[in-house]
Amino acid sequence: MAKVRLVDLTKKYGHTVAVDSVPLDINDNEFFVLLGPSGSGKSTVLKLIAGLEKPDEGEIYIDDRLVNPVDPKDRDVAMVFQSYALYAHMSAFDNIAFPLRMRRKKLKLTSADIRKKVIEMAKLLGIDHLLDRRPTQLSGGEQQRVALARALIRNPKVWLLDEPLSNLDAKLRTEMRATLKRLQKELGITTVYVTHDQVEAMTMADRLAVLDKGRVMAVSAPRELFSNPSNVFVAGFIGSPAMNLLPCEIRRVDSGYKLVFEGLDIDVGEAIISEIVKGGYGPKILLGIRPDYITLQAENAPSSYPAEVVVSELLGSEAIVSLRVGKSIIKAKVDSAKAYDIGEKVYFSIPADKTKFFDPDSQQCVQL
Ligand code: ADP
Repeated sequence: MAKVRLVDLTKKYGHTVAVDSVPLDINDNEFFVLLGPSGSGKSTVLKLIAGLEKPDEGEIYIDDRLVNPVDPKDRDVAMVFQSYALYAHMSAFDNIAFPLRMRRKKLKLTSADIRKKVIEMAKLLGIDHLLDRRPTQLSGGEQQRVALARALIRNPKVWLLDEPLSNLDAKLRTEMRATLKRLQKELGITTVYVTHDQVEAMTMADRLAVLDKGRVMAVSAPRELFSNPSNVFVAGFIGSPAMNLLPCEIRRVDSGYKLVFEGLDIDVGEAIISEIVKGGYGPKILLGIRPDYITLQAENAPSSYPAEVVVSELLGSEAIVSLRVGKSIIKAKVDSAKAYDIGEKVYFSIPADKTKFFDPDSQQCVQL
């Protein structure tokens, strides 16, 4: 059990600022995910915690102990990299047993204890039938699970996992997510998990940090990030597909204000618009609406707007329908029972209570 605290951590590679003044507080026993696009600094944060890279500025604490000067081997962390380096001359069994054999005396383990633990862990990860094989005799996904087993077999203070499921096929990955999460909770080991896959992040994380260009854009529980993205980056990154961001203009009319998107008067209620104006925002404003909340109908109805179907992608019970509205494309996630043809005219509605507004200049969510 351990807390991890990062204070204004910065790491530069030449002119590249890989990690930019990152503050993070990771709780005891937490499954904490670092999510962001490729190159956003996730792996570098992990390497800094592990001690494989030295920060240019900032502090790293594991359980209130400043570990900046501490050697990686003395930080009591176990790390799995994307590129897992297994010992080529050893069997899968010996690879997994290695960390225990290294600490055998300290942990007071007999060969039988080690054997039992290796088999238990291998069973959990579905590789117990492969333990006699060398790494070259294993597929990429099998090697990845051996590497994972090797890291998970001991109980360090912190697990640091860098896209540890990336080489598994979709079905196995879903299974392994559940296994990993269960194991983490059972053993209560504080975990920092790196992924660029927001579905993985949302399903596994107790809390997650969204990174962009080395900076933390938001830290929150998955549901909160989905419901209340604090800025345009988070809104556009979380959710599948991401939130629609409609460039709108607030116009003054005799009776008050109206919200115009692609020449359409979007009805979100007078009160919301007045609040936005009172807050000093506008006339340009981004209306955020999740594809999940947009509804489609064949007939024109009050507070619905015309659009043309560009494409409909079947997911299973749901479909993602892309709609052309003037020069903009918006996406709706709808029940797939009704099929939509390319070029079909439809009407879409935006429930006012599901809307978010963002200031296009600061890119921050407008708090109403
Ligand atoms: P992520 O894990 O989010 O994909 P990284 O932490 O690997 O991102 O990289 C962040 C940035 O730092 C990228 O621009 C990357 O090119 C750069 N970077 C990472 N490691 C090195 C290195 N050893 N030398 C030079 N640049 C690096």
